[in-house]
Amino acid sequence: MDAGLKQELEDKVLSGERLTYDDGVALYASDELAWLGELAHHVRTQKNGDRVLFNVNRHLNLTNVCTASCAYCSFQRKPGEKDAYTMRVEEAVRLAKAMEPAGITELHIVNGLHPTLPWKYYPRVLRELKAALPQVSLKAFTATEIHFFEEISGLPADEVLDELIDAGLESLTGGGAEIFDWEVRQHIVDHKTHWEDWSRIHRLAHSKGLRTPCTMLYGHVEEPRHRVDHVLRLRELQDETGGFVVFIPLRYQHDGSGDATRNKLMTQTTMASGAESLKTFAVSRLLFDNIDHVKNFWVMHGLSNAGLSMSFGADDLDGSVVEYKITHDADHYGTPDTMTREDLLQIIRDAGFTPAERDTRYNIVKQYDGPLSIAERRAEPQPMKAWT
Ligand code: SF4
Repeated sequence: MDAGLKQELEDKVLSGERLTYDDGVALYASDELAWLGELAHHVRTQKNGDRVLFNVNRHLNLTNVCTASCAYCSFQRKPGEKDAYTMRVEEAVRLAKAMEPAGITELHIVNGLHPTLPWKYYPRVLRELKAALPQVSLKAFTATEIHFFEEISGLPADEVLDELIDAGLESLTGGGAEIFDWEVRQHIVDHKTHWEDWSRIHRLAHSKGLRTPCTMLYGHVEEPRHRVDHVLRLRELQDETGGFVVFIPLRYQHDGSGDATRNKLMTQTTMASGAESLKTFAVSRLLFDNIDHVKNFWVMHGLSNAGLSMSFGADDLDGSVVEYKITHDADHYGTPDTMTREDLLQIIRDAGFTPAERDTRYNIVKQYDGPLSIAERRAEPQPMKAWT
């Protein structure tokens, strides 16, 4: 990068001036990864100090049956396929209850777009889960699912959300965003929810007092300019509503079994490297001056990258997870199905940060001690853990 431009970008970041589209593209063009990390770390430290949040949750995928066939998705099955499944309400409650002793604070529920399940199934699941686990927050459904519920219920999103909130919904999930630019989106997304409906539904959720996450699926056929455009659309919406609580970059993953029949992008692209992922965390942190938190969903990035990303802008680690089917159906890359609270504490401290457990609304549940001091580390050598 030209020295003058580098200085200009650095000055903007240090003075807190908002970065532009061109600035974002220029940052992605830089190969100075350590410099990008240093800038992003400056911003994350100003916003969040040396704290890294984490939560203890369980992911539930009620059904993998889906009418759509998104080109990046290894999860979806068509009705009648041998490994297609749909949970009875009782099964969802049983799985959630089994995590109660671990002290989960959140259930994260995302599903396929099932062609014949009645709309009433969804609020009923929430009601039964809330009755069984009243202390647990329900973060459920992507904007794509809410759009789909409008279709199958005949109700507008306003009424769909009211009924789900009445049943216990506390937050939407951030999925379905992928990459908003149509130039890319038309090749990867097969459902009907694009920027106009995705933003309409989150705007509506924010107007009802829900705070929601937002995401970006990167590292497939998009270019850095599409990532910048994606983030700036979300930044503009955040200026309007203030309802996004966290941004989550999600790395596209191949189907680890090598099956490209569903995950069709596999034949067109490699997965983003660790360096590219760290750059994406850093540039996102720098562009998002109006969102407090950037999350590493370790399932998508691996545990080593999760620790490193904390020095590239990430200040939130999700979570204990348990059986994340959407990626783990695609994933033979060595990440486990679940992490305990102790595992999460160790990753955060190992990276040099101070852990704090949060709930769905980003209230602090418990503050923990930070990493060992240098003196303590010297007294008793602390080998870096070989995270996969
Ligand atoms: S990403 Fe969601 S909507 Fe698309 S095919 Fe997979 S389950 Fe269906």
